[in-house]
Amino acid sequence: MPLYVLATPIGNLSDLSDRAIETLKLADQLACEDTRVTGKLLSKLEIKKDMISYREENEKFLAPKLADKIENGSNIVLVSDAGTPAISDPGYRLVRECRKRNLKVIPIPGPVAFTTALSASGLPTDRILFEGFLAPKKSARHRFFKEQKDFSGTLVCYESCHRIEKFLDDLIFCLGPDREICVAKELTKIHENFLFGSAKKVFNELKVKSKKGEFVIMIAKK
Ligand code: SAM
Repeated sequence: MPLYVLATPIGNLSDLSDRAIETLKLADQLACEDTRVTGKLLSKLEIKKDMISYREENEKFLAPKLADKIENGSNIVLVSDAGTPAISDPGYRLVRECRKRNLKVIPIPGPVAFTTALSASGLPTDRILFEGFLAPKKSARHRFFKEQKDFSGTLVCYESCHRIEKFLDDLIFCLGPDREICVAKELTKIHENFLFGSAKKVFNELKVKSKKGEFVIMIAKK
């Protein structure tokens, strides 16, 4: 049997594809980050499934065990809390284990926050560097910005509501207040919002808005 790597919505439930629903129905077990989050999705779909929590902390241990199950004929479906597994989320180790054992891995594509954000950003998308989450330390953020300040494409990062202001503050310090950026907030949700313009302008706009939510930050080349 194959491993299915299945994308779930990043906000709007209607973004779940028919193929994803069919695949969830045929699963023997779901490997998911938080069984409560996936449990809610399943109950909305009126699907009952056995679930196992597959997180960063137990990935190393669980990946071979899940690969054994696949080898023995189980349909295992890998999902994360939101979006595509293995993209700034657990999954890579299990997929790699399956590849090494020559087991089939079938992606069931769907939302990814950074491609969704880029598609509506108005920034060039022909060359991008997706960095995911920057390390939480100020020094690490500064190092990243300094290393990439002349990158000849669009830089893309994930950030939580807790650090978004610090992120923009450091961005302005390292790349200057006039660098063009786009910040996508709460994609596909009721309060979806895009802020576009110079880093300084976006920072000022963001300061007066609620910082709750999830963010994708895109930085244009110099
Ligand atoms: N696997 C996910 C994907 O396919 O995009 C990413 C998971 S990562 C743990 C979570 C981060 O993705 C958030 O902190 C935020 O930066 C970004 N993200 C996820 N959902 C989002 C949304 N609806 N709007 C904006 N950013 C989002």
